[in-house]
Amino acid sequence: MKRLFPFCAIALLSACNGDDAKHTATDDIIPAKVTAVTFDEQRFRTDIETLSSDKFEGRAPTTQGEKLTLEYLSAAFTKMGLKGAYKGSFLQPVPMVSYTASEQQQVTLAGMDLQYRQDIVLGSRHDSNQVSIKDAPLVFVGYGINAPEYGWNDYQDLNMKGKIAIILVNDPGFAHPEGAKFNGKAMTYYGRWSYKFEEASRQGALGAIIIHDTEPASYPWSVVENSWTGAQQDLVQSKAEQDQRVQVEGWLTLDSATALFDKAGLSLTSLMDRAATNSLNVDLAQTARIEFANKAEYADSYNVVATLAGSKQADEQILFTAHWDHIGTDDTKDGDQIYNGALDNATGTAGILEIARQFAQQAKQGHGLARSLTFIATTGEEQGLLGSRYYAANPIYPIDKTVAVFNLDSTNIYGKTKDYTIVGKGQSELENYLDRAVAKQNRTSQGELNPASGGFFRSDHFSFAKLGVPAVFAGGGNEPLDEATAQYKTAMLVKMKGCYHNVCDHYRPEWDLSGSLQDLGVYYQAAAELGNNQDWPGYFAGSEFNQLRPAD
Ligand SMILES: [Zn+2]
Repeated sequence: MKRLFPFCAIALLSACNGDDAKHTATDDIIPAKVTAVTFDEQRFRTDIETLSSDKFEGRAPTTQGEKLTLEYLSAAFTKMGLKGAYKGSFLQPVPMVSYTASEQQQVTLAGMDLQYRQDIVLGSRHDSNQVSIKDAPLVFVGYGINAPEYGWNDYQDLNMKGKIAIILVNDPGFAHPEGAKFNGKAMTYYGRWSYKFEEASRQGALGAIIIHDTEPASYPWSVVENSWTGAQQDLVQSKAEQDQRVQVEGWLTLDSATALFDKAGLSLTSLMDRAATNSLNVDLAQTARIEFANKAEYADSYNVVATLAGSKQADEQILFTAHWDHIGTDDTKDGDQIYNGALDNATGTAGILEIARQFAQQAKQGHGLARSLTFIATTGEEQGLLGSRYYAANPIYPIDKTVAVFNLDSTNIYGKTKDYTIVGKGQSELENYLDRAVAKQNRTSQGELNPASGGFFRSDHFSFAKLGVPAVFAGGGNEPLDEATAQYKTAMLVKMKGCYHNVCDHYRPEWDLSGSLQDLGVYYQAAAELGNNQDWPGYFAGSEFNQLRPAD
Protein backbone atom coordinates (compact mmCIF):
# COMPACT_ATOMS: atom_id res chain seq x y z
CA MET A 1 0.00 0.00 0.00
CA LYS A 2 1.39 3.34 -1.01
CA ARG A 3 0.94 6.26 1.28
CA LEU A 4 -0.29 9.32 -0.43
CA PHE A 5 1.06 12.21 1.52
CA PRO A 6 4.40 13.25 2.91
CA PHE A 7 3.98 13.52 6.63
CA CYS A 8 6.44 16.29 7.08
CA ALA A 9 4.73 18.58 4.59
CA ILE A 10 2.00 18.97 7.12
CA ALA A 11 3.00 20.41 10.41
CA LEU A 12 0.79 18.06 12.33
CA LEU A 13 3.48 15.93 13.83
CA SER A 14 6.51 16.88 15.78
CA ALA A 15 10.05 15.77 15.04
CA CYS A 16 9.72 15.99 11.29
CA ASN A 17 13.22 17.33 10.85
CA GLY A 18 14.62 14.10 9.47
CA ASP A 19 18.14 14.69 10.69
CA ASP A 20 18.27 12.25 13.54
CA ALA A 21 18.67 8.99 11.75
CA LYS A 22 20.84 8.58 8.70
CA HIS A 23 21.81 4.97 8.71
CA THR A 24 23.09 2.85 5.94
CA ALA A 25 22.05 -0.75 5.90
CA THR A 26 24.40 -3.40 4.68
CA ASP A 27 23.18 -4.75 1.39
CA ASP A 28 23.98 -8.38 1.87
CA ILE A 29 22.46 -9.40 5.12
CA ILE A 30 22.74 -13.04 5.87
CA PRO A 31 19.83 -14.07 8.04
CA ALA A 32 21.26 -15.26 11.33
CA LYS A 33 20.55 -18.75 12.56
CA VAL A 34 17.77 -18.54 15.08
CA THR A 35 17.37 -21.10 17.79
CA ALA A 36 13.83 -22.44 17.91
CA VAL A 37 12.05 -21.89 21.20
CA THR A 38 8.89 -23.21 22.72
CA PHE A 39 6.62 -20.78 24.46
CA ASP A 40 4.99 -21.91 27.67
CA GLU A 41 1.23 -21.68 27.19
CA GLN A 42 0.40 -22.26 30.84
CA ARG A 43 2.71 -19.48 31.99
CA PHE A 44 1.25 -17.16 29.33
CA ARG A 45 -2.29 -18.00 30.49
CA THR A 46 -1.45 -17.42 34.13
CA ASP A 47 -0.07 -13.97 33.34
CA ILE A 48 -3.19 -13.02 31.36
CA GLU A 49 -5.53 -14.40 34.00
CA THR A 50 -3.74 -12.64 36.85
CA LEU A 51 -3.38 -9.25 35.16
CA SER A 52 -7.04 -9.25 34.13
CA SER A 53 -8.39 -10.55 37.43
CA ASP A 54 -10.88 -8.40 39.37
CA LYS A 55 -8.19 -7.79 41.98
CA PHE A 56 -6.31 -5.63 39.44
CA GLU A 57 -9.41 -3.42 39.08
CA GLY A 58 -9.13 -2.91 35.33
CA ARG A 59 -5.55 -1.54 35.60
CA ALA A 60 -6.26 2.19 35.37
CA PRO A 61 -3.16 4.39 35.70
CA THR A 62 -2.45 5.79 39.20
CA THR A 63 -4.84 3.37 40.96
CA GLN A 64 -4.29 0.42 43.27
CA GLY A 65 -4.64 -1.68 40.11
CA GLU A 66 -1.52 0.03 38.73
CA LYS A 67 0.40 -0.68 41.92
CA LEU A 68 -0.37 -4.40 41.67
CA THR A 69 0.46 -4.43 37.97
CA LEU A 70 3.84 -2.74 38.47
CA GLU A 71 4.72 -5.18 41.23
CA TYR A 72 3.73 -8.14 39.11
CA LEU A 73 5.69 -7.02 36.06
CA SER A 74 8.76 -5.96 38.04
CA ALA A 75 8.82 -9.33 39.82
CA ALA A 76 8.53 -11.14 36.50
CA PHE A 77 11.41 -9.20 34.90
CA THR A 78 13.54 -9.61 38.04
CA LYS A 79 13.02 -13.37 37.95
CA MET A 80 14.21 -13.45 34.33
CA GLY A 81 17.36 -11.57 35.28
CA LEU A 82 16.59 -8.45 33.23
CA LYS A 83 17.83 -5.06 34.37
CA GLY A 84 15.76 -2.03 35.30
CA ALA A 85 16.36 0.56 32.58
CA TYR A 86 15.47 3.72 34.48
CA LYS A 87 18.30 4.60 36.88
CA GLY A 88 18.46 0.94 37.83
CA SER A 89 14.72 0.72 38.42
CA PHE A 90 12.11 -0.91 36.19
CA LEU A 91 9.80 2.06 36.72
CA GLN A 92 10.01 5.15 34.52
CA PRO A 93 7.79 7.87 36.06
CA VAL A 94 5.26 9.36 33.67
CA PRO A 95 3.83 12.60 35.15
CA MET A 96 0.11 12.58 34.50
CA VAL A 97 -2.81 14.83 35.08
CA SER A 98 -6.30 13.52 35.38
CA TYR A 99 -9.21 15.74 34.36
CA THR A 100 -12.65 14.82 35.62
CA ALA A 101 -15.65 16.62 34.19
CA SER A 102 -18.71 16.62 36.39
CA GLU A 103 -21.53 14.25 35.40
CA GLN A 104 -23.88 17.21 35.91
CA GLN A 105 -23.27 18.83 32.57
CA GLN A 106 -25.68 21.44 31.31
CA VAL A 107 -25.43 21.48 27.56
CA THR A 108 -27.76 23.36 25.27
CA LEU A 109 -27.09 23.34 21.54
CA ALA A 110 -29.39 25.41 19.32
CA GLY A 111 -31.87 25.64 22.19
CA MET A 112 -31.97 21.84 22.69
CA ASP A 113 -31.05 20.53 26.12
CA LEU A 114 -28.82 17.49 25.69
CA GLN A 115 -28.46 14.58 28.07
CA TYR A 116 -24.91 13.86 29.25
CA ARG A 117 -23.80 10.33 28.26
CA GLN A 118 -26.99 9.63 26.32
CA ASP A 119 -26.53 12.39 23.72
CA ILE A 120 -23.17 13.97 24.36
CA VAL A 121 -19.90 13.63 26.31
CA LEU A 122 -17.71 16.65 26.95
CA GLY A 123 -14.48 17.27 28.79
CA SER A 124 -11.75 19.84 29.16
CA ARG A 125 -7.96 19.49 29.24
CA HIS A 126 -7.51 22.75 31.08
CA ASP A 127 -6.73 23.03 34.77
CA SER A 128 -9.75 25.18 35.63
CA ASN A 129 -12.59 24.45 38.04
CA GLN A 130 -15.44 25.45 35.82
CA VAL A 131 -16.16 25.40 32.12
CA SER A 132 -18.69 28.08 31.41
CA ILE A 133 -19.50 28.88 27.80
CA LYS A 134 -22.38 31.09 26.74
CA ASP A 135 -23.64 31.94 23.27
CA ALA A 136 -20.71 30.39 21.45
CA PRO A 137 -21.42 30.17 17.71
CA LEU A 138 -21.50 26.66 16.23
CA VAL A 139 -19.69 26.10 12.94
CA PHE A 140 -19.80 22.88 10.93
CA VAL A 141 -16.29 22.32 9.53
CA GLY A 142 -16.82 19.07 7.60
CA TYR A 143 -14.01 16.67 8.50
CA GLY A 144 -12.09 19.42 10.28
CA ILE A 145 -9.02 18.83 8.09
CA ASN A 146 -6.33 21.24 7.00
CA ALA A 147 -4.16 19.33 4.51
CA PRO A 148 -2.25 21.61 2.13
CA GLU A 149 -0.83 18.65 0.18
CA TYR A 150 -4.39 17.78 -0.90
CA GLY A 151 -5.40 21.40 -1.35
CA TRP A 152 -7.93 20.72 1.38
CA ASN A 153 -8.84 23.12 4.16
CA ASP A 154 -12.13 22.79 5.98
CA TYR A 155 -11.24 25.90 7.98
CA GLN A 156 -10.77 28.07 4.87
CA ASP A 157 -11.52 31.76 5.60
CA LEU A 158 -12.73 31.04 9.12
CA ASN A 159 -11.82 32.76 12.33
CA MET A 160 -12.63 30.16 14.96
CA LYS A 161 -11.95 32.38 17.97
CA GLY A 162 -14.77 31.98 20.48
CA LYS A 163 -16.51 29.39 18.28
CA ILE A 164 -17.19 25.69 18.54
CA ALA A 165 -16.31 23.39 15.63
CA ILE A 166 -18.69 20.53 14.81
CA ILE A 167 -16.68 17.85 13.01
CA LEU A 168 -17.25 14.58 11.12
CA VAL A 169 -15.33 11.48 12.18
CA ASN A 170 -12.77 9.71 9.88
CA ASP A 171 -11.59 11.33 6.63
CA PRO A 172 -13.19 12.02 3.22
CA GLY A 173 -11.57 8.92 1.72
CA PHE A 174 -13.85 6.71 3.80
CA ALA A 175 -17.11 8.14 2.46
CA HIS A 176 -15.69 8.79 -1.00
CA PRO A 177 -12.99 6.16 -1.65
CA GLU A 178 -13.04 6.71 -5.42
CA GLY A 179 -11.86 10.30 -4.88
CA ALA A 180 -8.18 10.91 -5.56
CA LYS A 181 -7.63 12.51 -2.18
CA PHE A 182 -6.66 10.83 1.07
CA ASN A 183 -6.04 7.10 1.12
CA GLY A 184 -9.36 5.56 0.04
CA LYS A 185 -11.01 3.53 2.77
CA ALA A 186 -7.75 3.32 4.71
CA MET A 187 -7.73 5.99 7.39
CA THR A 188 -5.07 8.66 7.34
CA TYR A 189 -4.03 10.41 10.54
CA TYR A 190 -6.46 13.16 9.53
CA GLY A 191 -9.25 10.75 10.40
CA ARG A 192 -8.25 10.23 14.01
CA TRP A 193 -10.06 12.05 16.81
CA SER A 194 -6.76 13.20 18.26
CA TYR A 195 -5.98 15.04 15.01
CA LYS A 196 -9.43 16.70 14.97
CA PHE A 197 -8.91 18.22 18.42
CA GLU A 198 -5.33 19.21 17.59
CA GLU A 199 -6.36 20.98 14.39
CA ALA A 200 -9.34 22.78 15.99
CA SER A 201 -6.89 23.93 18.68
CA ARG A 202 -4.43 25.19 16.06
CA GLN A 203 -7.31 27.10 14.48
CA GLY A 204 -7.90 28.84 17.80
CA ALA A 205 -11.36 27.36 18.35
CA LEU A 206 -13.01 27.56 21.75
CA GLY A 207 -14.35 24.03 21.46
CA ALA A 208 -14.49 20.98 19.19
CA ILE A 209 -17.21 18.35 19.07
CA ILE A 210 -17.02 15.26 16.86
CA ILE A 211 -20.21 13.73 15.46
CA HIS A 212 -20.11 10.02 16.25
CA ASP A 213 -21.06 7.64 13.46
CA THR A 214 -20.53 3.94 14.06
CA GLU A 215 -19.26 2.90 10.63
CA PRO A 216 -16.62 5.54 9.98
CA ALA A 217 -15.65 5.61 13.67
CA SER A 218 -15.37 1.79 13.62
CA TYR A 219 -16.83 1.57 17.12
CA PRO A 220 -20.30 2.14 18.66
CA TRP A 221 -21.38 5.03 20.88
CA SER A 222 -20.92 2.84 23.98
CA VAL A 223 -17.16 2.88 23.36
CA VAL A 224 -17.18 6.68 23.21
CA GLU A 225 -19.29 6.84 26.36
CA ASN A 226 -17.08 4.41 28.28
CA SER A 227 -13.82 5.98 27.17
CA TRP A 228 -14.73 9.66 27.47
CA THR A 229 -16.55 9.77 30.79
CA GLY A 230 -14.90 9.66 34.20
CA ALA A 231 -11.30 10.69 34.72
CA GLN A 232 -9.42 11.57 31.51
CA GLN A 233 -5.70 11.23 31.84
CA ASP A 234 -3.14 13.21 29.93
CA LEU A 235 0.54 14.04 30.12
CA VAL A 236 1.13 17.10 32.28
CA GLN A 237 1.15 20.28 30.19
CA SER A 238 2.23 23.78 31.07
CA LYS A 239 -0.37 26.54 31.37
CA ALA A 240 0.83 27.95 28.04
CA GLU A 241 0.38 24.56 26.37
CA GLN A 242 -3.10 24.20 27.88
CA ASP A 243 -4.04 27.60 26.52
CA GLN A 244 -3.17 26.39 23.03
CA ARG A 245 -5.84 23.73 23.30
CA VAL A 246 -9.59 24.01 22.82
CA GLN A 247 -11.33 24.63 26.14
CA VAL A 248 -13.96 21.99 25.59
CA GLU A 249 -13.82 18.80 23.51
CA GLY A 250 -16.11 15.86 23.08
CA TRP A 251 -18.51 13.78 21.06
CA LEU A 252 -22.14 14.06 19.98
CA THR A 253 -24.40 11.18 18.86
CA LEU A 254 -25.48 11.07 15.24
CA ASP A 255 -29.14 11.42 16.28
CA SER A 256 -28.48 14.56 18.32
CA ALA A 257 -26.37 15.99 15.50
CA THR A 258 -29.16 15.35 13.02
CA ALA A 259 -31.60 17.19 15.32
CA LEU A 260 -29.12 20.04 15.71
CA PHE A 261 -28.77 20.47 11.94
CA ASP A 262 -32.59 20.26 11.57
CA LYS A 263 -32.86 23.17 14.01
CA ALA A 264 -30.46 25.09 11.80
CA GLY A 265 -32.63 24.30 8.78
CA LEU A 266 -29.91 22.09 7.30
CA SER A 267 -29.68 18.44 6.33
CA LEU A 268 -26.77 16.67 7.97
CA THR A 269 -26.95 13.84 5.44
CA SER A 270 -26.52 16.11 2.44
CA LEU A 271 -23.80 18.12 4.16
CA MET A 272 -21.98 14.86 4.88
CA ASP A 273 -22.05 14.06 1.16
CA ARG A 274 -20.71 17.48 0.26
CA ALA A 275 -18.01 17.36 2.94
CA ALA A 276 -16.66 14.12 1.46
CA THR A 277 -16.00 15.58 -1.98
CA ASN A 278 -14.84 19.10 -1.14
CA SER A 279 -13.57 20.94 1.87
CA LEU A 280 -16.35 22.96 3.40
CA ASN A 281 -17.58 24.91 6.37
CA VAL A 282 -21.04 26.17 7.23
CA ASP A 283 -22.06 28.57 9.96
CA LEU A 284 -24.98 26.89 11.70
CA ALA A 285 -26.23 30.29 12.92
CA GLN A 286 -26.92 28.61 16.26
CA THR A 287 -25.14 28.81 19.59
CA ALA A 288 -24.02 26.60 22.42
CA ARG A 289 -24.31 26.98 26.16
CA ILE A 290 -22.09 24.64 28.16
CA GLU A 291 -21.64 24.49 31.93
CA PHE A 292 -19.79 21.89 33.94
CA ALA A 293 -17.40 21.66 36.84
CA ASN A 294 -13.96 20.27 36.09
CA LYS A 295 -11.19 19.04 38.32
CA ALA A 296 -7.50 18.39 37.68
CA GLU A 297 -5.47 15.98 39.80
CA TYR A 298 -1.78 15.25 39.40
CA ALA A 299 -0.04 11.92 39.94
CA ASP A 300 2.78 9.91 38.45
CA SER A 301 2.08 6.74 36.57
CA TYR A 302 4.85 4.44 35.34
CA ASN A 303 6.17 2.65 32.30
CA VAL A 304 7.84 -0.64 33.20
CA VAL A 305 11.12 -0.80 31.28
CA ALA A 306 13.43 -3.83 31.38
CA THR A 307 16.60 -4.45 29.38
CA LEU A 308 18.48 -7.51 28.29
CA ALA A 309 21.89 -6.13 27.28
CA GLY A 310 23.38 -7.19 23.97
CA SER A 311 26.80 -8.82 23.78
CA LYS A 312 28.41 -6.72 20.99
CA GLN A 313 26.23 -3.76 20.01
CA ALA A 314 24.71 -3.12 23.39
CA ASP A 315 23.99 0.54 22.63
CA GLU A 316 21.64 -0.47 19.81
CA GLN A 317 18.16 -1.18 21.07
CA ILE A 318 15.31 -3.30 19.78
CA LEU A 319 12.11 -2.46 21.66
CA PHE A 320 9.07 -4.54 22.48
CA THR A 321 6.04 -2.56 23.63
CA ALA A 322 2.69 -3.56 25.10
CA HIS A 323 0.42 -1.34 27.16
CA TRP A 324 -0.26 -2.70 30.63
CA ASP A 325 -3.07 -0.24 31.33
CA HIS A 326 -6.78 -0.49 30.65
CA ILE A 327 -9.76 1.64 31.64
CA GLY A 328 -10.34 0.71 35.29
CA THR A 329 -13.78 0.57 36.89
CA ASP A 330 -17.06 2.41 36.58
CA ASP A 331 -19.14 2.52 39.75
CA THR A 332 -22.11 4.09 37.95
CA LYS A 333 -22.66 0.79 36.15
CA ASP A 334 -25.11 -1.86 37.37
CA GLY A 335 -23.60 -5.31 37.90
CA ASP A 336 -20.06 -5.84 36.65
CA GLN A 337 -18.14 -2.60 37.11
CA ILE A 338 -14.65 -3.80 36.22
CA TYR A 339 -13.09 -3.36 32.80
CA ASN A 340 -10.76 -6.34 33.12
CA GLY A 341 -9.02 -5.74 29.80
CA ALA A 342 -8.04 -9.38 29.37
CA LEU A 343 -7.69 -9.33 25.60
CA ASP A 344 -6.90 -5.58 25.64
CA ASN A 345 -4.15 -5.80 26.76
CA ALA A 346 -3.31 -8.42 29.37
CA THR A 347 -2.58 -10.66 26.37
CA GLY A 348 0.05 -8.34 24.88
CA THR A 349 1.60 -7.63 28.26
CA ALA A 350 1.83 -11.35 28.97
CA GLY A 351 3.22 -11.69 25.43
CA ILE A 352 6.23 -9.44 26.02
CA LEU A 353 6.91 -11.25 29.30
CA GLU A 354 6.96 -14.57 27.48
CA ILE A 355 9.20 -13.26 24.69
CA ALA A 356 11.53 -11.72 27.27
CA ARG A 357 11.76 -15.02 29.16
CA GLN A 358 12.78 -16.85 26.00
CA PHE A 359 15.49 -14.36 25.11
CA ALA A 360 16.75 -14.29 28.70
CA GLN A 361 16.88 -18.07 28.73
CA GLN A 362 18.81 -18.13 25.44
CA ALA A 363 21.25 -15.54 26.76
CA LYS A 364 21.89 -17.64 29.87
CA GLN A 365 22.74 -20.56 27.59
CA GLY A 366 25.27 -18.46 25.73
CA HIS A 367 23.04 -17.56 22.76
CA GLY A 368 22.52 -13.89 23.63
CA LEU A 369 21.96 -11.35 20.86
CA ALA A 370 24.54 -8.78 19.76
CA ARG A 371 22.05 -5.94 20.13
CA SER A 372 20.12 -5.10 23.29
CA LEU A 373 16.45 -5.84 23.80
CA THR A 374 14.27 -3.56 25.87
CA PHE A 375 10.76 -4.45 26.94
CA ILE A 376 8.44 -1.56 27.72
CA ALA A 377 5.07 -2.19 29.34
CA THR A 378 3.55 1.23 28.75
CA THR A 379 0.99 3.14 30.78
CA GLY A 380 -1.90 5.30 29.57
CA GLU A 381 -2.25 3.84 26.09
CA GLU A 382 -6.02 3.89 26.37
CA GLN A 383 -5.97 7.62 27.17
CA GLY A 384 -4.03 8.53 24.03
CA LEU A 385 -0.77 6.54 23.91
CA LEU A 386 0.49 8.52 26.92
CA GLY A 387 3.22 6.19 28.17
CA SER A 388 4.74 5.61 24.73
CA ARG A 389 4.48 9.31 23.87
CA TYR A 390 6.25 10.13 27.09
CA TYR A 391 8.98 7.56 26.44
CA ALA A 392 9.43 8.83 22.86
CA ALA A 393 9.81 12.38 24.17
CA ASN A 394 12.01 11.29 27.10
CA PRO A 395 13.79 8.21 25.77
CA ILE A 396 15.89 6.19 28.18
CA TYR A 397 17.98 5.04 25.21
CA PRO A 398 18.60 7.48 22.33
CA ILE A 399 16.00 7.31 19.57
CA ASP A 400 18.71 7.29 16.89
CA LYS A 401 20.14 4.16 18.51
CA THR A 402 16.72 2.52 18.54
CA VAL A 403 16.61 0.03 15.68
CA ALA A 404 12.99 -1.13 15.73
CA VAL A 405 9.80 -1.47 17.73
CA PHE A 406 7.60 -4.56 17.95
CA ASN A 407 4.22 -3.73 19.49
CA LEU A 408 1.70 -6.15 20.95
CA ASP A 409 -1.85 -5.04 21.62
CA SER A 410 -4.61 -7.64 21.95
CA THR A 411 -3.09 -10.89 20.68
CA ASN A 412 -4.97 -13.53 18.70
CA ILE A 413 -7.46 -15.51 20.81
CA TYR A 414 -9.20 -17.08 17.82
CA GLY A 415 -6.84 -19.96 17.07
CA LYS A 416 -4.12 -20.56 14.48
CA THR A 417 -4.35 -18.89 11.09
CA LYS A 418 -2.97 -19.58 7.63
CA ASP A 419 -2.22 -15.91 7.16
CA TYR A 420 -0.68 -13.11 9.20
CA THR A 421 -1.90 -9.54 9.52
CA ILE A 422 0.50 -6.59 9.46
CA VAL A 423 -1.43 -3.46 10.42
CA GLY A 424 -0.77 -0.67 7.91
CA LYS A 425 1.32 -3.06 5.78
CA GLY A 426 3.70 -1.39 3.37
CA GLN A 427 5.39 0.93 5.83
CA SER A 428 8.91 -0.29 6.49
CA GLU A 429 11.65 -2.83 5.85
CA LEU A 430 11.01 -4.21 9.31
CA GLU A 431 8.09 -6.05 7.69
CA ASN A 432 10.61 -8.09 5.67
CA TYR A 433 11.77 -9.63 8.93
CA LEU A 434 8.19 -10.55 9.80
CA ASP A 435 7.68 -11.98 6.32
CA ARG A 436 10.70 -14.27 6.64
CA ALA A 437 9.51 -15.43 10.05
CA VAL A 438 5.92 -16.12 8.93
CA ALA A 439 7.19 -18.00 5.88
CA LYS A 440 8.84 -20.47 8.26
CA GLN A 441 5.36 -21.08 9.69
CA ASN A 442 4.01 -21.56 6.16
CA ARG A 443 1.93 -18.43 6.49
CA THR A 444 1.77 -15.31 4.35
CA SER A 445 1.34 -11.74 5.48
CA GLN A 446 -1.17 -9.16 4.34
CA GLY A 447 -2.63 -5.84 5.47
CA GLU A 448 -5.54 -5.65 7.88
CA LEU A 449 -9.10 -6.30 6.73
CA ASN A 450 -10.32 -2.89 7.85
CA PRO A 451 -7.62 -0.27 7.28
CA ALA A 452 -10.42 2.31 7.61
CA SER A 453 -10.25 2.02 11.38
CA GLY A 454 -6.76 3.57 11.33
CA GLY A 455 -5.13 0.77 13.29
CA PHE A 456 -1.63 2.01 12.52
CA PHE A 457 -2.34 5.17 14.51
CA ARG A 458 -4.09 3.47 17.38
CA SER A 459 -1.45 1.78 19.48
CA ASP A 460 1.93 2.50 21.01
CA HIS A 461 4.15 1.74 18.00
CA PHE A 462 2.77 4.94 16.40
CA SER A 463 4.56 7.09 19.00
CA PHE A 464 7.83 5.67 17.67
CA ALA A 465 6.83 5.71 13.99
CA LYS A 466 6.30 9.46 14.36
CA LEU A 467 10.02 9.71 15.18
CA GLY A 468 11.04 7.53 12.24
CA VAL A 469 11.78 4.36 14.20
CA PRO A 470 10.51 1.41 12.15
CA ALA A 471 7.65 0.02 14.19
CA VAL A 472 5.30 -2.86 13.54
CA PHE A 473 1.98 -3.89 14.95
CA ALA A 474 1.10 -7.33 13.64
CA GLY A 475 -0.48 -10.66 14.43
CA GLY A 476 -3.51 -12.85 13.88
CA GLY A 477 -5.08 -13.41 10.51
CA ASN A 478 -8.35 -13.90 8.68
CA GLU A 479 -8.11 -17.51 7.57
CA PRO A 480 -8.47 -20.09 10.33
CA LEU A 481 -6.05 -23.01 10.03
CA ASP A 482 -8.77 -25.65 9.68
CA GLU A 483 -12.50 -26.30 9.97
CA ALA A 484 -12.45 -26.91 13.73
CA THR A 485 -10.61 -23.64 14.28
CA ALA A 486 -13.09 -21.84 12.01
CA GLN A 487 -15.99 -23.14 14.10
CA TYR A 488 -14.30 -22.19 17.34
CA LYS A 489 -13.58 -18.72 15.97
CA THR A 490 -17.20 -18.15 14.95
CA ALA A 491 -18.43 -19.18 18.38
CA MET A 492 -15.82 -17.12 20.25
CA LEU A 493 -16.53 -14.03 18.14
CA VAL A 494 -20.15 -14.26 19.32
CA LYS A 495 -19.00 -14.44 22.96
CA MET A 496 -16.63 -11.50 22.52
CA LYS A 497 -19.11 -9.33 20.64
CA GLY A 498 -19.43 -5.90 22.23
CA CYS A 499 -16.59 -6.62 24.66
CA TYR A 500 -14.07 -4.20 23.13
CA HIS A 501 -13.55 -1.59 25.86
CA ASN A 502 -16.36 -3.11 27.85
CA VAL A 503 -16.69 -5.01 31.11
CA CYS A 504 -17.08 -8.40 29.40
CA ASP A 505 -13.48 -8.34 28.15
CA HIS A 506 -12.48 -10.80 30.86
CA TYR A 507 -10.28 -13.90 30.72
CA ARG A 508 -11.89 -17.09 29.41
CA PRO A 509 -10.16 -20.44 30.10
CA GLU A 510 -11.64 -21.75 26.84
CA TRP A 511 -9.62 -19.28 24.76
CA ASP A 512 -7.51 -21.05 22.17
CA LEU A 513 -4.18 -19.26 22.55
CA SER A 514 -2.26 -21.32 19.99
CA GLY A 515 -2.57 -18.44 17.49
CA SER A 516 -1.06 -16.02 20.00
CA LEU A 517 1.87 -18.35 20.60
CA GLN A 518 2.41 -18.67 16.85
CA ASP A 519 2.57 -14.88 16.63
CA LEU A 520 4.94 -14.55 19.59
CA GLY A 521 7.16 -16.88 17.58
CA VAL A 522 7.08 -14.51 14.59
CA TYR A 523 8.19 -11.52 16.67
CA TYR A 524 10.78 -13.66 18.41
CA GLN A 525 12.32 -14.88 15.14
CA ALA A 526 12.24 -11.42 13.58
CA ALA A 527 13.92 -9.80 16.58
CA ALA A 528 16.46 -12.60 16.87
CA GLU A 529 17.51 -12.06 13.25
CA LEU A 530 17.65 -8.28 13.59
CA GLY A 531 19.43 -8.59 16.92
CA ASN A 532 22.40 -10.32 15.37
CA ASN A 533 23.05 -8.16 12.33
CA GLN A 534 24.10 -4.62 11.38
CA ASP A 535 20.94 -3.71 9.52
CA TRP A 536 19.00 -0.49 10.13
CA PRO A 537 15.60 -1.01 8.51
CA GLY A 538 13.93 2.12 7.13
CA TYR A 539 10.56 3.36 5.94
CA PHE A 540 9.62 2.78 2.32
CA ALA A 541 9.24 5.63 -0.16
CA GLY A 542 5.62 6.72 0.05
CA SER A 543 5.38 6.14 3.79
CA GLU A 544 4.56 9.18 5.92
CA PHE A 545 7.74 8.42 7.85
CA ASN A 546 10.12 7.78 4.93
CA GLN A 547 11.99 11.08 5.26
CA LEU A 548 12.83 10.40 8.89
CA ARG A 549 14.56 7.08 8.30
CA PRO A 550 14.46 6.05 4.65
CA ALA A 551 14.71 2.51 3.34
CA ASP A 552 17.48 2.13 0.82
ZN1 LIG B 1 -5.11 -1.87 23.50
